[in-house]
Amino acid sequence: MVQTRRSTRAAAPVLSTSTAESLKRRKAASVDKSDDSEHKSAAKKPARKRRKKTEDELSTDDFPERISSPWKIGAHVSAAGGVENTVRNAAFVGANAFALFVKSQRKWDSPPLCAENIEAFKRRMHAFGYSSKHVLPHGSYLINLGNPDEEKRQKSFDCFLDDLQRCEQLGLELYNFHPGSTVGQATKEESIALIAECINNAHKATTHITIVIENMAGSGNVIGSQFSELKGIIDLVENKTRVGVCLDTCHLFAAGYDISTMDGWDTTLSEFDSVVGLSYLKGMHLNDSKAALGSRKDRHENIGLGQLGISVFRHIVSDSRTQHIPLILETPMFDATEIWTKEISTLNCLSKLVDDSKVPETELSLVDEITSLVRSRATNKVTKVNKTRTRKRDAKEEEEHDSECA
Ligand SMILES: [Zn+2]
Ligand SMILES: [Zn+2]
Repeated sequence: MVQTRRSTRAAAPVLSTSTAESLKRRKAASVDKSDDSEHKSAAKKPARKRRKKTEDELSTDDFPERISSPWKIGAHVSAAGGVENTVRNAAFVGANAFALFVKSQRKWDSPPLCAENIEAFKRRMHAFGYSSKHVLPHGSYLINLGNPDEEKRQKSFDCFLDDLQRCEQLGLELYNFHPGSTVGQATKEESIALIAECINNAHKATTHITIVIENMAGSGNVIGSQFSELKGIIDLVENKTRVGVCLDTCHLFAAGYDISTMDGWDTTLSEFDSVVGLSYLKGMHLNDSKAALGSRKDRHENIGLGQLGISVFRHIVSDSRTQHIPLILETPMFDATEIWTKEISTLNCLSKLVDDSKVPETELSLVDEITSLVRSRATNKVTKVNKTRTRKRDAKEEEEHDSECA
């Protein structure tokens, strides 16, 4: 069974825990090495107090080694504490690609990126050996470029353009967003034309970023669940060198594309090639689906635990058509990043599997490992939530009791 160094560790939900662990190891190593010299100088100098390394002093040696593969597998990591932290959060889970929000995804206005954040992000990208080709920022959820209401669309466009400018400031090349919705006030064709117009205007206001349209599950009035709709947008984009598509596996399945079998995956990607064109495929979101085929429900599930099953992911990460593009997990992680570490190592393992009689057995054991990890972390989270609720309820009851007695 393939395991990464991280996957064998105990719960390490935040970077600082891993950092503490690796520092402990390094500290132990440095004590061993320094024994001799301390003997020599013990009589002369008092022992110096050890100083903890700060975040910025950490070297790439403090992180797990990443495997080398043409399939660039990663996850949508947290930007909490500054956009530059995404790089380390990605390295921490062994990701060879990553996604991030370049500002709060649920607010219209966010303070601009400051020079220090930008500089630190670029420095870390270089230090950890990430290519901007494998970073797929995700746009704000508020954006709807297909809204026929001019004022609302303008607000969305401003937010969209701000996202794109942040990406360019960070030296990134790709930007992924949800195409939008008619909000029931326009035809799909009208909204598609509005989205394309916004992309054309955004191209003129930026220098190099490629705008990547995500396929959607297709609930309600949402645009982009069918390849023909993605093609409809691209057809109206003037600069076709700066537009692309990101295919989300969960959304594909929910929209009715049955990729749960090898044949289904092949047929779907061939259909994408004939309708849109494979040259437009700039990234993928790897998510299993809780919801059924054609349900139009967007419910992400951990790899191998949903309706898609693990085999399709083996087909995807061993398909030459998905090489050298970011393949991003957006699966539930219950505040425990080791779930992503496990899923990433699983996918890397799948991409190296030789197609023989042992495949079903290996897949089964990988699914078992993910299942037990997810179960334990999900239970931990539920327990924590319940404890907090109980504490709050007890405090409230105490308060009420006190006021009744007063
Ligand atoms: Zn998305
Ligand atoms: Zn989704």
